[in-house]
Amino acid sequence: MSDSPQHFDTLQIHGGAAPDPATGARQVPIYQSTAFVFQDADHAARLFNLQEVGYIYSRLTNPTVAALAERITHLEGGAGGICCSSGHAAQIMALFPLMMPGCNVVASTRLYGGTYTQLTQTIKRFGWSAKLVDFDDLDAVKAAIDDDTRAIFCESIANPGGYITDLDAIAKVADDAGIPLIVDNTSASPYLCKPIDHGATLVVHSTTKYLTGNGTVTGGAVVDSGKFNWSASDKFPSLSQPEPAYHGLTFHEVLGPMAFTFHSIAVGLRDLGMTMNPQGAHYTLMGIETLSLRMRKHVDNAVKVAKWLEADDRIESVTYAGLESSPYYDRVAKVCPNGAGALFTFAIKGGYENCVKLINSVELFSHVANLGDARSLIIHSASTTHRQLTDEQREAAGALPNVVRVSIGIEDADDIIADLDQALTKALA
Ligand SMILES: *Cc1c(COP(=O)(O)O)cnc(C)c1O
Repeated sequence: MSDSPQHFDTLQIHGGAAPDPATGARQVPIYQSTAFVFQDADHAARLFNLQEVGYIYSRLTNPTVAALAERITHLEGGAGGICCSSGHAAQIMALFPLMMPGCNVVASTRLYGGTYTQLTQTIKRFGWSAKLVDFDDLDAVKAAIDDDTRAIFCESIANPGGYITDLDAIAKVADDAGIPLIVDNTSASPYLCKPIDHGATLVVHSTTKYLTGNGTVTGGAVVDSGKFNWSASDKFPSLSQPEPAYHGLTFHEVLGPMAFTFHSIAVGLRDLGMTMNPQGAHYTLMGIETLSLRMRKHVDNAVKVAKWLEADDRIESVTYAGLESSPYYDRVAKVCPNGAGALFTFAIKGGYENCVKLINSVELFSHVANLGDARSLIIHSASTTHRQLTDEQREAAGALPNVVRVSIGIEDADDIIADLDQALTKALA
C-alpha cells in the first residue's frame, strides 16, 4: 500500500487491524484470553523491560483491545492510545501520569454531569483538585492556572448545552503555560472534531457513546498526540524523571512520543486496573466501522429536528450550535467542520411539569441516561444526570429545570419529529 495517509472512512474499518496472522480471520478475533505464552525466559524479560512490544496479561494489553486503541488513535491523528473500562476511567487514566497530591486541573464549567462530580468531588480523595472556570473567558482560564496546575480540561462539544469550545484559543493558553490540554471528544467523535489538530495534547473518549453507537458496552479511550515535551519542565516527573513505579525507567527519554502511552499501560493499567475487556472492544470495533455514516445521519437529523423545534411556538428555546441563532454557530466551521453533533437541549413552555409530561409521552424516544446511541434518546437533565449539582452549577452546565436534552438518533427524521409533536401536544394539553 502507498505511504499517503488513508482517509477517515477507510481508517474506521481498517485502522489497527490486518487479517489475523494466526488464522487469516478477516474480522478482528475476540482474544478471550487472560494471559499469553512467552516464547522463553528471555522473551518474557524483554517484554517486561518494554524492549519488545507484545502481550503478557490482559489487564495490561490484549490484541482485540489493542486493535481498537490503534484504530481510535488513527481516527484522532495521535501517536498512541489506550482503551479502558469506561469514559470516566479514561479521564482518570489521562490525569494519572500528570498529577501528584496537591496538583490541580483547570476545567471548563460546561461538562458532562458525571465529570463535574468526578473533578470537583471524587478526585479530592487523591489529593487532586479542579478549578472550574468559564472557558469563553480566556483571562479567567489564564488566571486560574497556578504553579500546581498540571492540565487544562474541556469538552469539544460540551454536553448538554450546545456549547462548542474554542479549542485553538484554549490550546494556546495551555501551551503558553507549558501544560497539556485534555479534550473530552465524546459528544463530537473524531469524525466531527479532531482536537489534536487544534492543539490538544490528550483526547479522551467515552467509547460507550458514538464510537460504539449501538448502546451495548461501556468503554473509554485516551489518545496522546505525542507532541508534548514532558521534559521541558519539572512538572511531570512520572514521565520526565526515573519512575520508581517502573524500576526507575525514564519514560520520556526512552520512549519519546510514546512515553505517555507506555506509562499508561505499564503503570496506569497495571496498577489501577481500569481495563477494557476483549468482548467490549469487539462491540466497539463493530460499531466504529460505520462511525462516519452514522455521524452524518445524526447531524442531518439533529439539524432538521432542531429547526422544527425552533419554529414551533410550544418551544421557548433550542440550544444547538448547528442553528444560526446559536452564539456558537460561528465556531462550528472552525472546530467541528462536519457538524455540531446531535446532542442538544430545548426549553418548553410550562417549565418543569411539562418537561416531565413530555418525557412520559414520547414513544419512539427512549427515556435513558445515555447518548450517542443509534436510537433517539431523551432525558430531563435537571432531575437525573445533573441532579447532584446546585442550581447555579446546573445553569452553568445548561441543564435548567425547564429544559430537556435529546440525543438525536439515526431513524427517519420525520418519525423523530412526529414523536416529539405528539408528545408536546400531550404535555401542553
Ligand atoms: C458518558 C460521558 C462520559 C462518561 O463516560 P462513561 O463511559 O459513562 O464512563 C464522559 N464524558 C462525556 C461527554 C460523556 O458523554
